[in-house]
Amino acid sequence: MPETKTSKILLVEDNLDNLELMRLLLDQKGYAVITARTGKQCLKLARAESPDLVLMDLSLPEVDGWTAASELKADPHTQHIPLIAVTAHTLPGDRKRALEAGFDGYISKPINVDLFFGVVEKSLRKSRT
Ligand code: MN
Repeated sequence: MPETKTSKILLVEDNLDNLELMRLLLDQKGYAVITARTGKQCLKLARAESPDLVLMDLSLPEVDGWTAASELKADPHTQHIPLIAVTAHTLPGDRKRALEAGFDGYISKPINVDLFFGVVEKSLRKSRT
């Protein structure tokens, strides 16, 4: 991959199996991965670590993904970070609701590996330009 620096990805997921699967996939591609299990941890880490990309589940404890996205997009320190929802909420209207909350993109669960990396790579290219 033609990376000039290692991209840092914040992964937010309360389901441990899903978290470990995504962490493994991203580790194998050489990304630096940091993880959070709740929306509250996500907000704290996004502010402290300035990741290049946030991949976030929507149904999360403490602060849900929609609320966390709105808060990140309202904060001048974090509003530039691309936010991708990773979710099993795939009913009509769910995509729209995620985009309205501030997400820049959407990945459906269960994860299709090629689509997953397609969205990750595209979002990182945008975040660098
Ligand atoms: Mn969840």
